[in-house]
Amino acid sequence: MKKVTLIPGDGIGFEISQSLEKVFKAAKVPIEFEKENAGTTVYEKTGELIPESLYKSVEKNKIAIKGPITTPIGKGFRSINVYLRKKYDLYSNFRPSRTLPGIKTRYDNINLVIFRENTEGLYIGEEKYEDDKKNVAVAIKRITKKGSYRIIKNAFEYAKKNNIDKVTVVHKANILKLTDGMFLNTAREISQEAGYENIKLEEVIIDNMCMQLVTNPEKYKVIVTMNLYGDILSDLVAGLVGGLGVAPGANIGDDIAIFEAVHGSAPDIAGQNKANPLAILLSGVEMLRYLKMDEFSTKIENAILKTLESGVKTADLGGNATTSEFTQKIIENL
Ligand code: NAD
Repeated sequence: MKKVTLIPGDGIGFEISQSLEKVFKAAKVPIEFEKENAGTTVYEKTGELIPESLYKSVEKNKIAIKGPITTPIGKGFRSINVYLRKKYDLYSNFRPSRTLPGIKTRYDNINLVIFRENTEGLYIGEEKYEDDKKNVAVAIKRITKKGSYRIIKNAFEYAKKNNIDKVTVVHKANILKLTDGMFLNTAREISQEAGYENIKLEEVIIDNMCMQLVTNPEKYKVIVTMNLYGDILSDLVAGLVGGLGVAPGANIGDDIAIFEAVHGSAPDIAGQNKANPLAILLSGVEMLRYLKMDEFSTKIENAILKTLESGVKTADLGGNATTSEFTQKIIENL
């Protein structure tokens, strides 16, 4: 049995992680979940936002899956999610999106993955006023060769492993010549490395990319980009396939990986058995692939697809199934 840390989070986090546990158990996945929590619910009970036992569990297991965490304002952390990414150097934000059956969207054939650099760029938090009157503010965008190399390398390795013949690098190097220029040049260098002869590097400027994605999203398979652009593009593409309720994701470093449902804690529907567990379930499928448990990832993914094909879905997707009914249907379809 492989041990994995399960962080339910807050709000609907409890309902969706219960769904994950039930589906994994029914599919006889050889994983034992070690439950540890962080966020507002834990804080209210224990006075700690991230208990020491959570760090220990993540560091021991090297792999975790989490629901949405609410970070209380003014308690020492800007965001627990961002803190964990930084602490464990989870530099690769992995966001797959695909068209799902039974979910009405504008396009029928989307199947792409965005690799977003997660630790640098404009999100390093270095902002300041430049004048006493606080009328001029600046933010630093830091791009490093090392940071660019490792995320772009991930994207190329992913393309190679999955027989995808194109990687699209998204940038604004025509204006930001040093920062985005370094990112783009690194992509050009990596594309010349041995082993990537069958992978074409496509270069697209961020503004054009937005237009392309809402007109021809089927053309893209693997996109790699910097922190801010990746943040925006990954939610844009999630919207094209049904919204954040169906969007899986992961934050991956060289040592530790944390898979996650991308949406928030949805306080408006928490505790009402209405939450859509798809995002955490599909994150679970990606986690099983990462752990090379392909037999189980395929089995669970097929059961999810079959359930959606039969028209069973939760209210956010226009259906009328509760969280537990939807989960039960997936289990029946395993
Ligand atoms: P949200 O994603 O929680 O909710 C936005 C809307 O989407 C709501 O109407 C909600 O009901 C709906 N929704 C979201 N996920 C759903 C699901 N799985 N099934 C059905 N409906 C779903 O965004 P918000 O309201 O901006 O944020 C609420 C809290 O979540 C905030 O405290 C925020 O800090 C936190 N948050 C956490 C994460 C994370 O841990 N990764 C991400 C975003 C927001």
